[in-house]
Amino acid sequence: MMKSMCCEAMRYYTSNHCPVHNSPFKCPDWLLLYDEKSNIYGIIIHDGGQSYVKINYCPWCGRALVGCQGDGSLDTDTIQ
Ligand SMILES: [Zn+2]
Ligand SMILES: [Zn+2]
Repeated sequence: MMKSMCCEAMRYYTSNHCPVHNSPFKCPDWLLLYDEKSNIYGIIIHDGGQSYVKINYCPWCGRALVGCQGDGSLDTDTIQ
């Protein structure tokens, strides 16, 4: 179940479209990673490891990829 992506290109490149590789880090054609758990999009760096560069905006359509949480003020003082 994929969430609705900002554009077709994003949907394509974050989905598993490779019949050979089952890991995005192993496939040279797999450009983008979407981590559903943390809601992070990243450009995969194919250096043999599992690294990627987090992106906040879609490289194709330019829309913000991470939903803004709250009004921009990160409240870290939650100690009661
Ligand atoms: Zn897009
Ligand atoms: Zn592949």
